[in-house]
Amino acid sequence: MHGAAGPELISFRTARERVLAAAAPLPAETVPLLEARGRALRRAFAAGHDLPPFRNSSMDGYAVATQDLAGASAKAPVELEVVDVLPAGRLASHPLGHRQAMRIMTGAMVPDGANAVVPLEDCERIGGSSGERARFIRPARHDENIRPAGRDLRTGEVPLTEGRELSPYDLALLGALGESRIGVGPRPRCAILSTGDELLEIDQALRPGAIRDSNRPMLALLLEECGARVVASARVGDDPAAFARRARELLDQADVLLSIGGVSAGDFDPVKSGLDRLGDVALWRVAMKPGRPQAFGRPGGRLFFGLPGNPASVACVFETLVRPALRRLQGFAELDRPRVPVHAAEAIASRAGRTDFLRVTLERRGESWWAKQAGEQTSGHVAPQSRAHALLVVPEESPGLLAGELAEALLLRRPGA
Ligand code: AMP
Ligand code: MG
Repeated sequence: MHGAAGPELISFRTARERVLAAAAPLPAETVPLLEARGRALRRAFAAGHDLPPFRNSSMDGYAVATQDLAGASAKAPVELEVVDVLPAGRLASHPLGHRQAMRIMTGAMVPDGANAVVPLEDCERIGGSSGERARFIRPARHDENIRPAGRDLRTGEVPLTEGRELSPYDLALLGALGESRIGVGPRPRCAILSTGDELLEIDQALRPGAIRDSNRPMLALLLEECGARVVASARVGDDPAAFARRARELLDQADVLLSIGGVSAGDFDPVKSGLDRLGDVALWRVAMKPGRPQAFGRPGGRLFFGLPGNPASVACVFETLVRPALRRLQGFAELDRPRVPVHAAEAIASRAGRTDFLRVTLERRGESWWAKQAGEQTSGHVAPQSRAHALLVVPEESPGLLAGELAEALLLRRPGA
């Protein structure tokens, strides 16, 4: 809690450490393969069998034994008797014998006795009354066009480690290995509560003094995007009792509650004044810009983020503290947006002891990316956030960036658009 000196002032690093320490992974759940895309794989996965599971042909051709074609040439072609036809999925009824070939399709198991597949286009098929024969004008190389069992992946190999964000390709691999149900991190249940007498719904007409509540849909979509589920979303006016009542209701339904606005020093800030009634929540001043005033805690074992109200502050606190916490709850190894090295296209003022996040656009120059401010860095602005490709990080120890200086940016969307 806070005394005359105001809420506790902490570094961004400390805030991040505390938030992550409070966000222990939720118990895993098992879901059908088709529902596992984008989810966190909760246990390293070891292949239960070889891929491919059996030796098979990578071409349509003739399965042969190299020794039978040893001297084959255009001048001295070799003819073999074709004794079987093997579409994918069909097994040869017997091993390949001396001076025999089998017509084989891509994916079919290579019969015992064969050690090469000569593609159809490299030989000539001769139909005759005495049955099919094939004429070869070159020798075959050992294992030519054969995919050995286990060449793709061996039994016991671990292609996917714990915390992996599962892609469609990962799930194809798991599918090939027969995993129809996957143990993944659950989608945290989130509730959003915006505060402010001035706020209108998106579909309401403007009236003097009022603005539309744009943070709530932004937050809902960001939450969905990072794997969470929004189970409730509400708005209260600037009334501490109403805030506390609504917050308690929402905490009953959710793993994480995010409130918007009402945490600064204003006279009517309901979160600031209603916190005591939630328990285990404190106001913070985090040495970050934007996003300094915040509240955080674990009321009743849930997570509570009291976000500031300004749109850029909500966005920055979400990207740097909330997203990593939600990713950790799910069990992801990677907690943040992709980090890219960028050069500052212009000098950027900051001061040591404060971490700054700037909304920037990225431009490619030669081999590197250059970051330009995506408009005025006023925390009340909405448009720069939409324009930005990335959040440029000016770290705590930096007094600011010189023009050309290298820094890190969190990629928000694909540059170029
Ligand atoms: P507060 O921290 O409640 O004083 O809010 C700071 C600024 O953010 C004020 O200009 C609010 O009008 C604005 N604001 C607060 N909540 C929202 C919201 N949900 N959507 C858009 N702007 C908001
Ligand atoms: Mg407010």
